[in-house]
Amino acid sequence: MSNIIEHKYNIGDTVYIVASKSNPIKTECKLCNGSGQVEIKQSIWKCPSCKGKKTKIEPNFERIPMKCTVRGIWIGKQEDWTSLNYDLVNTNGVRKRAKELKIFSCIEDVERQIDKEREKRENS
Ligand SMILES: [Zn+2]
Repeated sequence: MSNIIEHKYNIGDTVYIVASKSNPIKTECKLCNGSGQVEIKQSIWKCPSCKGKKTKIEPNFERIPMKCTVRGIWIGKQEDWTSLNYDLVNTNGVRKRAKELKIFSCIEDVERQIDKEREKRENS
């Protein structure tokens, strides 16, 4: 048995991963139709749903490509190649960790992956 572990990427390589970006959506409050008020028994009250703010903020996560540099490679507990993990750092200096299967060598591949995930969500 060989002790050599095959890895696709090397330290210093530029790679891409799929990242989540919080992009909340502001929508008009459905309860008060964006007026911030509701009428209850002929009295006007502050809308209990939006608290008078007229809008509601819905959480929404956008999937985006993130460019990273490989800083380290390490093996997970199971001794198979799928548990090969990478320490990455993005262009803002934020550390990330990803399995080899979740890493792409070019932006076109990561964009294809994002499209694939989107199609999967839309079809389910
Ligand atoms: Zn409201």
